[in-house]
Amino acid sequence: MSVKGQHIAVIGGGLIGASAAVRLQQAGAQVTLIDPGQERDRASFGNAGHIVIESAEPLTSWAQVRSAPGRLFGMGGPLDFRLGDITLWGPWALRYLIACKPSRFRAGTAALGALLERAIPAWHALAVDIGRPDLVQDVGYFHLWESEASAQRGLIDLAHADLGPGRYRPIDMAELEQMQALFDGRPQGGAYFENTAKLADPGQTVEALWSAFAAAGGQAIIGTVDRLEDGPNRIQVRLRDGLSLTPDQILVAAGARSARLMRHLGAKAPLVAERGYHLHFPEHDWPEDLKPILFADRFIYLTRFNSGARATSFTEIGRPDAPPDPRKWAALKRQLAELKAPVRGDGVPWMGCRPTLPDFLPAIGRLSPRALYALGHQHIGATLAAATAEAVMDLVETDATPSRLNMFDIRRFN
Ligand SMILES: Cc1cc2nc3c(=O)[nH]c(=O)nc-3n(C[C@H](O)[C@H](O)[C@H](O)COP(=O)(O)OP(=O)(O)OC[C@H]3O[C@@H](n4cnc5c(N)ncnc54)[C@H](O)[C@@H]3O)c2cc1C
Repeated sequence: MSVKGQHIAVIGGGLIGASAAVRLQQAGAQVTLIDPGQERDRASFGNAGHIVIESAEPLTSWAQVRSAPGRLFGMGGPLDFRLGDITLWGPWALRYLIACKPSRFRAGTAALGALLERAIPAWHALAVDIGRPDLVQDVGYFHLWESEASAQRGLIDLAHADLGPGRYRPIDMAELEQMQALFDGRPQGGAYFENTAKLADPGQTVEALWSAFAAAGGQAIIGTVDRLEDGPNRIQVRLRDGLSLTPDQILVAAGARSARLMRHLGAKAPLVAERGYHLHFPEHDWPEDLKPILFADRFIYLTRFNSGARATSFTEIGRPDAPPDPRKWAALKRQLAELKAPVRGDGVPWMGCRPTLPDFLPAIGRLSPRALYALGHQHIGATLAAATAEAVMDLVETDATPSRLNMFDIRRFN
């Protein structure tokens, strides 16, 4: 089925929606991209920018459950939630535990691994097609551990993990000494992921997708979709400001705020916002050739982007619109000081929402002849945006859902 000449409304202009909008447009569709236009409200703006093709295992395993108490914010770790949000995360947590069933975990790993195979090639192709090949950089990254015991445990865990297309090796002595010299002697062991990549700058990547879309004649509406009505003969998209559209098809890609729109379409999307924090340092002394680093014991990613060096951390399970918790930025700042990270000043604080379903798999599929969705990309939406856009193209160009997308059908939660 060709989309040539069809009017498709894409709801949400983060990395997922904007990548799909560009691909649909290139296939000849007349695309309208609808988004409130607040770039800092997007997870796609503030993420760590890693194209983590080794993240094939969903974070639904008994090992994750067992280690959760030790990872709580109250214990100095990155994991947090508010008791007042129990009506949100309580039912979500029950579904999470069900998804930890080994057979579901294995099936999820296989499906994610297959999608991750396309992550880097799809990004390179998209970046070339929008005239910005510089936005995707083929650099590996370091996992570092700060005690011999955690390094030993970490390397054993990696040896037993299904890393999809990702490849790693333990770091050598010269690399360890380099890391110790840079970070106050703290790293005691590490692994180097050899075939991952990164975005040169997540915010600039979103901007470049929007610019390419506009330059090719795409229509962007700055606004918020309030209601979707999918009738027998047409689909209606109603915006908060009263505007209404009746496109041929829609794609819901509204990140952590997609659940309400999916409900209008008759589907349950039990999303939580996994809220992450960053400090961004326009001024820094990060060596040009230093690869990105994950301090695995602390779950802190350090990355140099075009616009500055950035430290990201935390996973606070909650609602997208609750105010940020300033203790997270203070804790991040304290940890950067402990590591003697090569950054200057206080850093610009940010909080954003990973859109996460209880089984830590994305949802990519079709609900009706007129309604498509691509959401729930949790910790790996920057990784999977271009591959997801390819999957969306497969969905609009064929009548039946390709079998490789079966695990990502949102109706698994109905
Ligand atoms: C701290 C942090 C670090 C991360 N690091 C990485 C990483 O290193 N690698 C990786 O792969 N992933 C990473 N991620 C995850 C990644 O950022 C997300 O999975 C991804 O950005 C999700 O993209 P999205 O387009 O679905 O959502 P978003 O970027 O949030 O975009 C959704 C858009 O939809 C809009 N919208 C919402 N509701 C409506 C509505 N009703 N009408 C119209 N528009 C609407 C929003 O305003 C927003 O612009 C990280 C996330 C965080 C928070």
